[in-house]
Amino acid sequence: MHEKRICRKCLLEEIGETELIKSLEELKAAMPEEDRADSAEYARRLAICRECEALNDGTCAKCGCYVEFRALKKRMYCPHEERKW
Ligand code: SF4
Repeated sequence: MHEKRICRKCLLEEIGETELIKSLEELKAAMPEEDRADSAEYARRLAICRECEALNDGTCAKCGCYVEFRALKKRMYCPHEERKW
């Protein structure tokens, strides 16, 4: 049997933690539309996170947030010293 390998640079949707993803999806769905980043901005932010050394199992080592949730909030910003997004 193959052991499932988890990449440190994966987002939650790729890790496949079903219950966690479900909870995250519920949180995202509960966020008012006007508070959400548009889909292009959301994708841009996550693309930057994927390349960042602070991404660790879907969380940001700089703040502890799940990046897929943090990136969804329009007014949120990257906590990195370089403020990557
Ligand atoms: S430091 Fe910024 S770019 Fe890096 S994982 Fe955290 S939120 Fe994403």
